[in-house]
Amino acid sequence: MNIAAARVAVIGSGISGAVCASTLARYGVSVALFESARGPGGRMSQRRERTEDGEELLFDHGAPFFTVTKTEVLSLVQEWESRGLVAEWKGQFGSFDFHSKKFIDMEQEGLSKRFVGVPGMNSICKALCSENGVESKFGASIGKFEWLDDDNLWTVMGLDEQNLGRFKGIVTSDKNIASPRITEVTGRLPPLDLNLVPELSAKLHNIPVRPCFAVMLAFAEPLSSIPAKGFSIKNSQVLSWAHCDSSKPGRSTMSERWVLHSTAEYAENIIAQTGLKKPSDTTLKKVADELFQEFQSSGLNIPQPIFKKAHRWGSAFPAASIAPEEKCLWDGSKRVAICGDFCVSPNVEGAISSGLAAASKFKDILCSL
Ligand SMILES: Cc1cc2nc3c(=O)[nH]c(=O)nc-3n(C[C@H](O)[C@H](O)[C@H](O)COP(=O)(O)OP(=O)(O)OC[C@H]3O[C@@H](n4cnc5c(N)ncnc54)[C@H](O)[C@@H]3O)c2cc1C
Repeated sequence: MNIAAARVAVIGSGISGAVCASTLARYGVSVALFESARGPGGRMSQRRERTEDGEELLFDHGAPFFTVTKTEVLSLVQEWESRGLVAEWKGQFGSFDFHSKKFIDMEQEGLSKRFVGVPGMNSICKALCSENGVESKFGASIGKFEWLDDDNLWTVMGLDEQNLGRFKGIVTSDKNIASPRITEVTGRLPPLDLNLVPELSAKLHNIPVRPCFAVMLAFAEPLSSIPAKGFSIKNSQVLSWAHCDSSKPGRSTMSERWVLHSTAEYAENIIAQTGLKKPSDTTLKKVADELFQEFQSSGLNIPQPIFKKAHRWGSAFPAASIAPEEKCLWDGSKRVAICGDFCVSPNVEGAISSGLAAASKFKDILCSL
């Protein structure tokens, strides 16, 4: 299969786009998937870094894990588990209170199952994007969709309006696809002109988001004073979460790697000072230092790291669910589906449900594809 023969274009290789693309392919629809980043995963990506000594460090710097409550999602996750793409992350989890500098609410082991991709959070999307029937193109940012009324088809274009193919249907999985936020950040118009899908327009116009900074740390020695593999942080203005990334199944344990997440308020405050554009190295260094200092001030006996770097997630979490019942938006007349966590709930499970729902809309019209 090549892209010229594909019938449906899926934009985005995060978990919602990847699930949608692979499900469509199982229905027998040939799919072209376009992703602007160099690799798959979106907010389930894995970051590759190096220490000054040249040691390779891999970090799950987006979603650290996910949980599942819905049956239809669980059966898919169990299939991934049987293929070795997913495993349970076992160990102690809890909460740390910054006021008392003590762990509170240590969770009973095994109470709720935390799933992680193996060997990285991106493994699931990576596998789904290369399934039979899915042709994936990375480093391919979609800049514009054009509706061809006479042909009853979509043309999908790159950032310089280069033609990337004609498709019977499109699925987009990013909340900014029609958002004025894109113009604020890049100076370009959003790819999807809402006049083409007037019925979806009101819901899609401007979805609120909450940002987060992640700081990746590596230590020469294990942080043996910390009794938990991952913990939420209460009563800190700066930190909301910390986890030991190298404690997950299938990871290298050459060095001990931790990831810290900022509070949304801290990230919003930094963005208010620096703007929405890509943060400078100076800003990222300041954030890495501030989050690490807060971690050290926990009294948990944290040594100096051998590696420290911050990443900004400008739209880490949608702050609204725009299609909690339908789980995706759908325009049947032009065969456009919009999916993603922002349709259902701000987590991996919500994104999976939404990707499945978007694929099922096309199932109903397979004969016209
Ligand atoms: C720091 C952090 C912590 C989190 N913690 C958790 C957690 O503990 N548990 C949990 O369940 N969830 C967590 N989440 C949320 C979870 O990661 C998301 O809900 C989920 O990954 C969203 O998947 P998605 O497919 O909807 O979107 P995304 O993963 O954002 O995928 C959208 C994709 O579209 C691509 N794209 C966008 N525009 C274009 C374009 N024009 N052309 C081509 N490609 C484009 C993007 O590059 C991206 O890859 C966390 C997220 C973050 C950032």
